[in-house]
Amino acid sequence: MSPLPPNTETLLAFDRAHVLHPYASMLEPPPVLLVASASGVELSLADGRVLVDGTSSWWSAIHGYSHPVLQRAMAAQIETMSHVMFGGLTHAPAISLSRRLLACCPPGLDKVFFSDSGSVAVEVALKMALACWQGLGRPGKTRLLSLRQGYHGDTFATMAVSDPDSGMQTVFGQPLQPPLFAPAPACRFGEPWEAADSEPLRQLLATRHEEIAALIMEPIMQGAGGMRFHHPEYLREAQRLCAQFDVLLILDEIATGFGRTGRLFASDHAGITPDILCLGKALTGGCMTLAATLCTRRVAEGVSGAGAAFMHGPTYMANPLACAVADASLQLLLEGPWEARVAAIERQLRAELTPCRSLPAVADVRVLGAVGVVELREHAPLPQLQNALVQEGVWVRPFGKLVYLMPPYIISAAQLRQLTAAVVKVVKALG
Ligand code: PMP
Repeated sequence: MSPLPPNTETLLAFDRAHVLHPYASMLEPPPVLLVASASGVELSLADGRVLVDGTSSWWSAIHGYSHPVLQRAMAAQIETMSHVMFGGLTHAPAISLSRRLLACCPPGLDKVFFSDSGSVAVEVALKMALACWQGLGRPGKTRLLSLRQGYHGDTFATMAVSDPDSGMQTVFGQPLQPPLFAPAPACRFGEPWEAADSEPLRQLLATRHEEIAALIMEPIMQGAGGMRFHHPEYLREAQRLCAQFDVLLILDEIATGFGRTGRLFASDHAGITPDILCLGKALTGGCMTLAATLCTRRVAEGVSGAGAAFMHGPTYMANPLACAVADASLQLLLEGPWEARVAAIERQLRAELTPCRSLPAVADVRVLGAVGVVELREHAPLPQLQNALVQEGVWVRPFGKLVYLMPPYIISAAQLRQLTAAVVKVVKALG
């Protein structure tokens, strides 16, 4: 096969004809940009344009792109081994990463299961919860409980526990035992707590706990389901109710983990430890695909106390290259001034996005940690909005009614100003 001529038009034409992109038509996909390289907070396009990145590549590249420490960690690991199977074998990168994770995660978590993506990490969490109650001789506890406006991934079981009106299930149907849904928390982060907010959750748990294996939720920030920030007391209450009614609590910190909301884990805002914790995205600093499901000793005893194995085992489980760069990324994060950086980003986002509130097209502006959200009153036309943002020299990926920023933590004040100014200008132009 002859190589494709490496010019932008030919590559993009082949891409458009044959390469599928996320959440896009298979036949008439929206345009995509050809990226030639990425460094720091900048994406360099093949046509010479440079964009300041406001997405961290979907929450992952917290240290920016091509960070020398992470590049070196990957290069060193490639010299040793890129991959070996994990059944019957182990290796130092997985052991070192597990040790570092257990040391910084909410206390009480004891076991780590590595998989290849966030969705799989959630699947693993759901399987752990179901297997735990089977092992404990409570076979009736097979139902899952989750929250409206939640999002947990794109595989079937994760889709099932995501908001039922999000559009995913209307396409694929509901192949699994339907989960129960409690209303989304209404009390916002930073506003006074009202106990009535968790009352529907309490009622569901009180009446249905005999059949409920686990409550799964995103702590503090519901991401793809609406970028909503809820009160830490809701989370504390959820944990208290789960303990009271013998229901496992699964926290999906795939988007919130590793400092994004201003605390290392969003659950730290409430000071709680879940029974099962899902991590992904920023785990490798955006370099490789890797996710982790952590659980307490109590869950492990439920699953395997009677001698049962935990039946899950991805081919690329604990891929050494991914583990090595995750270990380096976590060390870089923990030894650096991430907290001050995220706090500075939060202050600047608040100062520079809040004026959007008075614009006619804007319904709400909210900021938490290194996340800034401008919620529009109407769904905006994505390709036009995207194009207008690119014209301003920034990479921001709005969805639905949301235009939002979650930049790498290393972003400079000037780069962040370029992002916020672009968002303000483009939203203003919506009328
Ligand atoms: N849970 C949450 C909260 C997420 O934001 C995502 C990613 N969008 C997932 C799960 C799924 O992760 P992945 O895309 O890596 O499968």
